[in-house]
Amino acid sequence: MNDTIAAISTALGVGAISIVRLSGKDAINIVNSCFSGKDLTKVNSHTIHYGYIKDKDEIIDEVLVSVMKSPKTFTTEDVVEINCHGGISTTNKVLELMLFHGARLAEAGEFTKRAFMNGRIDLIEAESVMDLINSKTEKVRKIGINHITGVLSEKIKEFREDLLGLLASIEVNIDYPEYVDIEEMTNNHIKEKLSNIKKQLNKIVKESEQGRIIKEGINVAIVGRPNVGKSSILNKLLGEEKAIVTDIQGTTRDIVEGSINLDGIILNFIDTAGIRETTDKVESIGVEKSIKTIEKADLVLLVLNNNEDLSNDDKKLIEKVKNTTHLIVINKTDLDSKIDEKYLNSNNIVRVNTLNYEGINPLKIKIKELFKLEQLDNSDFTYFSNSRQIALAKEAENIIEDIEKALEDNIPTDMIEIDIKRIWTKLGEIIGDTYEEELIDKLFSQFCLGK
Ligand code: GDP
Repeated sequence: MNDTIAAISTALGVGAISIVRLSGKDAINIVNSCFSGKDLTKVNSHTIHYGYIKDKDEIIDEVLVSVMKSPKTFTTEDVVEINCHGGISTTNKVLELMLFHGARLAEAGEFTKRAFMNGRIDLIEAESVMDLINSKTEKVRKIGINHITGVLSEKIKEFREDLLGLLASIEVNIDYPEYVDIEEMTNNHIKEKLSNIKKQLNKIVKESEQGRIIKEGINVAIVGRPNVGKSSILNKLLGEEKAIVTDIQGTTRDIVEGSINLDGIILNFIDTAGIRETTDKVESIGVEKSIKTIEKADLVLLVLNNNEDLSNDDKKLIEKVKNTTHLIVINKTDLDSKIDEKYLNSNNIVRVNTLNYEGINPLKIKIKELFKLEQLDNSDFTYFSNSRQIALAKEAENIIEDIEKALEDNIPTDMIEIDIKRIWTKLGEIIGDTYEEELIDKLFSQFCLGK
């Protein structure tokens, strides 16, 4: 952390401008040693200077250099940004010069890591920087920017403050029982406060599932017997919407046959048992394979042929999807109905016909309803945005549950103090800020009795 790092901060390629960024105590000196223009060591912070980057006498590029002095910078260190003319060889040469003059090539994410290590941002905010960079839809961008501005972090900090307050009250009750003006910490009291935190935490965790959907999309499996119309449905869905790139995190281990953007939410159609294969269809689209796909999906579309009686395979699949988020898609509604619907749950049925485009709309509407996509627009986008954060929040919830049980068994108050500290620690891990000494310091600074 004592050295000065440098990296090309823009995408490497041909473009109008490329930026080489440096951060660290020698950033200004390093750039100054190969800059022809003003003496950068004497300029004011947050100013921009015109000049040349030179390798001894040779001019490498005509540049604008931004000088931002510690501490009001992204990393809190001295930061210099060199705006070069875009282009691979020029930008590389400028970076090489910085390395030659004493900078070290930054590791991936190292500027953000420094911002975190130096206390400029917390872990949630650091993770959100990545979300923002990777966002492909407007909704993902909103979650990212919401976290960067610290909305979720504030919430977690509030919970932690509450826990500290609770701990302090318990301590005081134990250490100074003679103080009459202190709120008495009964088990009920503690339980009420903790349950309140648990409730709020649980709400965010639940809504985070929506957040995951926003970020990663919904993995959809289209399953059913051969010839019921699976590929026709997929093709209509893909054909009607603009196809989008499919290298989306979280789906990489499954083959994605295609993705669409449904009102800002990405639907990834995962390898639905090779439904695009044309030869040996009956062989390749076994019910067994469908069953495997069902297990990997967030949403299963079980397609049935309106014009055929339900077969044993159909019934097997209907049984299999019962405990999943699913829709029964009855296809070929242009033909006579032969399906005995007593085997089906009518809430989840969509009738379509893929011979025309209109036929597929009811399906899209139903998917939107099922995932409450309309409501997402009104969401405040305060979600945990990755499994690390969610796992820690759930661990915190579990500890609270254990405490609630212990309190019901009338366990002495001082026995649960340690568990309350554990919740505080877990929540601290979410924002990357947990120190035992800090707990102690804060406890007493908050609750000074003047003795
Ligand atoms: P898959 O094997 O389940 O993928 O089924 P396909 O999509 O290949 O369709 C099987 C056959 O059913 C094809 O001949 C399609 O043209 C036909 N088909 C698909 N959808 C409809 C529909 O809505 N109505 C009618 N009448 N035929 C359809």
